[in-house]
Formats: sequence, C-alpha cells, structure tokens
Amino acid sequence: MDMDIKKLMMMMGLALAAVSCAEKKGGDPENTGFNYLIDQFADVRVMRFTVPGWDDLTLQQKEYAYHLSEAAKYGRDIMWDQNCRDNLAIRHTVEAILIGYEGDRECEDFLRFTEYAKRLFFSNGIHHHYAEDKFFPECGREYFASLMQSVGKEDARLLDVIYNPSVYPQRRSTETSGDIVKLSAVNFYDGVTRAEVERYYAGILKPKDPHPVSYGLNTKVVKEKGKVVELPWKVGGIYGPALEKINEELAKAAEVAENDIQKRALGLLQEYYRTGDLRIWDEFNIEWVRDTLGKVDFINGFVEDYNDPLGRKGSWEGYVHIKDSVASARTEILSANAQWFEDHSPVDPRFRKETVRGITAKVVNAVTLAGDSYPSTPIGINLPNADWIRKEHGSKSVTIANITHAYDFAARECPKNILDEFAYSDEEKALYREFGGIADEIHTDLHECLGHGSGQLLPGVSTTAMGEYASALEEARADLFGLYYSADPKMVELGIMPSPEAYKAEYSNYIRNGLFVQFNRVELGRPNTEAHMQNRKLIAEWCMEKGAADNVIEKIVRDGKTYFVVNDFEKLRALFGELLGEIQRIKSEGDYEAGKALIETYAVQIDPELHKEVLSRYAALGLKPYGGFVNPDIVPVVKDGKTVDYELVYTDDYLGQMLYYGKKYATL
Ligand SMILES: [Zn+2]
Repeated sequence: MDMDIKKLMMMMGLALAAVSCAEKKGGDPENTGFNYLIDQFADVRVMRFTVPGWDDLTLQQKEYAYHLSEAAKYGRDIMWDQNCRDNLAIRHTVEAILIGYEGDRECEDFLRFTEYAKRLFFSNGIHHHYAEDKFFPECGREYFASLMQSVGKEDARLLDVIYNPSVYPQRRSTETSGDIVKLSAVNFYDGVTRAEVERYYAGILKPKDPHPVSYGLNTKVVKEKGKVVELPWKVGGIYGPALEKINEELAKAAEVAENDIQKRALGLLQEYYRTGDLRIWDEFNIEWVRDTLGKVDFINGFVEDYNDPLGRKGSWEGYVHIKDSVASARTEILSANAQWFEDHSPVDPRFRKETVRGITAKVVNAVTLAGDSYPSTPIGINLPNADWIRKEHGSKSVTIANITHAYDFAARECPKNILDEFAYSDEEKALYREFGGIADEIHTDLHECLGHGSGQLLPGVSTTAMGEYASALEEARADLFGLYYSADPKMVELGIMPSPEAYKAEYSNYIRNGLFVQFNRVELGRPNTEAHMQNRKLIAEWCMEKGAADNVIEKIVRDGKTYFVVNDFEKLRALFGELLGEIQRIKSEGDYEAGKALIETYAVQIDPELHKEVLSRYAALGLKPYGGFVNPDIVPVVKDGKTVDYELVYTDDYLGQMLYYGKKYATL
C-alpha cells in the first residue's frame, strides 16, 4: 500500500486492518504462535505490537529508550484532564470498582460496566476517541450508582456527567451555531467565550514575525477578576506534578543519550517544562530535527492542536521509537542499485534518467505509545508543526512499520477475514500467508525509493502537463515500476525477495484488490475518484483487458461469489512492463489526451453489480473499524545490583495494563 494513503487513513482515524490491509500482508514467520489481537469490544479492537530490532540495541540505547518511555507514560494523566475536566475523577472511580468490587462480577450488568471501562480507557475519557461524542454505559444508572457506593465513591454529580446526554455531549464541539469554546468539553478554557479568547490572542500575535511563537500551545485560558489570562502548563503551574516526573525521567535519559545533540535537546525540553517558555520549545524542536543519526527517537510534549476547537492548544503526546534496521538495510540496497533498475526498466531509453539516485526510506518501530497516541496511534509521524522551523531547519517524517504489521497480522486472526473471503483457492491463500507481507513491503519500497524518482521528461515538456490526471498516473507509474521489478530475478539475487515465488502473492493480491476488494471503501453508486484507488483500478482493468486472449486474469463465479484469479504470472509481468512503458511515454511527452483516455476508460466507473457484491460481502465480515494497542513493558534485568539488560515483555492483558498505568503513572 502507498505510504501516502496510509497517512491519509491515519488522518481519517480509521483502522487499517478493517479498511484495507487485511488483504495485504503475509504471515509473520518469526512470531509463530504470537497473537496480535488481544481484545475486542464496542467498535474497537485492541492489539499488541512487537519491536523488531530491540535486541540489537546496546545496553545504553535500551536504557535511553527506557527513560524516554517512562517520561512518555508519566504524561498520561495530562491527556485525560485535557480531554475533559471530569475524566480523571471518573477514571479513578471506575478503577476503584474494577479493583475493589466484591459483588457478582460475572453478571450481565457487571460485564456491561466492564465494557464501559474498556471504552473509557481506550478513549482517554468519556468521549469517543475519534467521533468525539460522549458514549454511555450499557448498564443502568442505578446499577452504576450501586457500584460506586460499594467502593465508597458515591458522587451524584459525576454520575450525572456519565449518564446525562446534555452534559458535555462532545469533546470538541462541531456545532455551527453557538459558542464552540463553551460547547466543547475539552479543558482548555474556563469561563471565557470564543470572542474573548480570539480577542485575547489577537492582542498578542505579531502579524509579520518571521519566527512566530506557537502562542497558547501550552496554556489554559481563564478569567481572573474579570480579566482574560493564560495559566501555563509547567512545573509549578497546571500539570506541574506530572511535568516534574517527566523532567526527572528526561534528565536520566539525557545521561545515557546517544549523542550531544540529543543531550542538548533533552536539556531544552526540561527547561521548557520548567519555564513554559515557548521560545525554548522552538529551540528544542530545532535541536530535535538536527538529530538524524540517533537510533532511538521520541516525541514528548504538547504537540497536536486538533482537539482544540480554536486549533491552538496542544494535546499531550508521547512516543518512543527505534530505527527499523531491516527495512532500512533493504532500502539502502535498493538505493545503491538505483542505476541498475533505471537502466533496465521497460521504457523507451529516451525517457530514462542518465543518473538516478534512490531514496532511503525512514522506517521506525514503535517502542512506547503515550498520551494522545495511546492506545489509538498514528502509523506515520511528520514533525515539528511550526512551518518556519520546517522551512529553515527541516522536519522528520517516518512511517511506523511494526504498528502496520500488527494491524495486518491481527486482521488475519479474525475468523472472518478479507483474505479468506476474497481469495479464490487454498493455494492462493497459502502463498499469500507465506509471502504476502514481505512482498507487499518490498513493492512499497520499490514504489517509494525508486518508482517515483525514475524516468525523465523530454526537453520542453511541462511538469504540469497531465493536469487533473497527474496524481493517479504518477501513482500508477510508481506502482508499475514496483510490480514489474518485484518479479525480477535481480530482487532475489540482491537478497531482498526471499523466494522466486514470492512476487506471485503480491500480484494476485494486487489484481484482487484493484478489480474488486478496494471498492468496499466507495459508497454504492459513487465513481472511483481517489488517486491511489484509480491507479490500482487502471492497472488491474487494463491488464485484464489486454490479457483476455491469453486468459491471464480470469473472472470466476463460484456459489454466487465473484473471484479474480491470475492464471499466468509471467504474462502479467510483461503487461505491467508494457503499461509502465506507455505511462512513462505519456508523462515524458506530456501526452495529456492519452493520459486522460487511460484514466477515463479504466479507472473511474465501477461495475454496479460487483460494487454491490463487494459491499455486502465486506459488511458480512463484521470487522471493527477502530484499532489501538497496548505497550510492551520494558523490564530492567538486575544482576548483583546492576542493571544488565532491559527486556520487553509483551502483555496480552489490556485492562491489566490500564490499571497498572493508572497506579504507576498517577500524577494528578
Ligand atoms: Zn506514491
């Protein structure tokens, strides 16, 4: 799958597994017997992830990651309080009941209460993590009251917050009439109107500052004696106790940092938490961007502002990740051989680049998720947010491989999954389970590292010649480059593709998806409009038509269900090469009419019968739309009073981790 679409889906808050990845990845031979899916409730699935590469870290790097992880987890309560001022009190009540209730814990009502607790933990509060509406316990209000009473936590007001639909109905209000500051449950403002807040910031902002400070990022706006003021989130201010613990761990991390840049960055971050000075936050970010050589990296701070109805306040977020050395090694090999791929590509030599450079993808594996990123997490990160820092000092953009893997592996653990539903034969499924995952990753590597960068325009051809068809055609070009080379013996020779058969798993999957499965994401009656989806449909439909005489791809209906089966992989590869040659020609010559014809003929119209069928078969799988993760525990191994190692322990106990965090990282 394209990195671009992964990011898009992350932004949409959708679980990859449910919307598209289940058909993509293959088995995980190194983790046989390890279950990724550990819990399901409401509209959510909870998974765990493994951390490839952890054992290759030095003891010092592990210690560094350990303290950064502790610093991340100590911010947990901040996020809860930011989401709604009553969240922590409600969580403490629910925790007390889960731990201390001595009545019937098997009855229907208690199970319903437990489900509410799970949802509460998942959302870091009483509002749905994505939809932002308040959700309600399925057990009755009187029953909930009796549970509270049984653990000595009676509180009529809190009970009303939990059950009354008109109290805090939305975390961030989407009302179009009314005051979104007043109507939002988020704890960023108190006793102020939207107009007052806007007036306040209008008085502070300097319109032409080339290095604008992110005013308001780390404060709460309140009224004191009739005057609008900001109260900072800093040591000695709001969230002081949490930030002190975070600083303690950051200081320990700094002692074992990998390099001086990291050390300086961590020093600045602590100073920022001590002072609340946003100029120091900017200095920290500049230093953080400069650290490109470290193996361990992190996010720690008030970062994303999308929870604030006015888009100013940063939600607390923590992340610790390590470089994915396997993926990086792979893309380094591809980059080093970029010229060979360019010279052998099945396009007119006039359209090839004389000298080409590959890109080394930045792939990481998550170690610890926290705050805004826990349990529901992004699969790509692109920071810092300040535009002027990005322009003058750069930014870091990474994709998080082990989270994507976990989604895919977990999807296949569901008794009903996309692969079993849409793949035709046992043979096809088995091949996919063995090689699908790695073959898909390699296809993505080829697409990203070499595909987009290959080829050249003829002199005088404009880069914008393809107009509105440019992105679908460009994605098709990169995908075809990847598909064509996935089957090349060179890939096995370079030690990248594990077997000469592996590419077949990717080919079958690509065709199945492009002709059929992907349309589960399009509303019935609507055309196919998204660029990546158009590119896949174009490639698959074109090959189906051009290979019809040789039956390269066959449509088979069995028991009323449609399947698309690849009969001839060699010929399919040749067709991929032919289409790559044609799309490269179109781009190199700027042949707008030919590009338009390709898209309009093959990429847009969805067969209404097939569309109806895929939607109903997909719905019958009953997949949960949202996903999130527990963290592995990082456990110090102590021998003779000395820490000699840090081991990862992969818990499969979702509630257990929540209760443990509630105790260990309680700061507010
Ligand atoms: Zn792309």
